[in-house]
Amino acid sequence: MTDRSPNGAAVWTRHSRLRVVPPVQPRKLAKVPFVELADGRLQGVVSSGSDIGRVYVSSIAAGTHNYNCSTNNNRPCGGLYGSPCKHLRALVAEAVVQYGVDRVSRYLRVEVPEGADLAGCLGGVHEPAPAAVVFSRFLRHLAYLEVPDTTLPIPELHWFPATGTVG
Ligand SMILES: [Zn+2]
Repeated sequence: MTDRSPNGAAVWTRHSRLRVVPPVQPRKLAKVPFVELADGRLQGVVSSGSDIGRVYVSSIAAGTHNYNCSTNNNRPCGGLYGSPCKHLRALVAEAVVQYGVDRVSRYLRVEVPEGADLAGCLGGVHEPAPAAVVFSRFLRHLAYLEVPDTTLPIPELHWFPATGTVG
């Protein structure tokens, strides 16, 4: 067998069914450009529904399920009136798409009955948390994506509005 040689590798790649880091389902990157399970939290960046230039940093702590949502400048989200805002719900929904409901519920330590909505099973309260750390991780994530020299479209960057839309 020579299919591990450089020439053979190309043939092997063409014929393989290997997929690179497949999300469980296709993700809507424009709405939630960044989601991760890190630092004991489900956290990520959610774009504003009304203002294309604004993003929210949303997070939910594992265990307590205490949650926070603010702009990347640490302004509190106006949608947090005693219950998780639409950004937190979008974050949870996107995490389920990215990681699958089992992994997300294990990480957050929440019991999700068969067929139930994971977001509806969380019982935390609002607890302020700094947005800057999450936002800088998001920017590093984008910087990393820019490293490979490629002409292929990078879906993570489609979140950015096209230039020239100022006003
Ligand atoms: Zn929010």
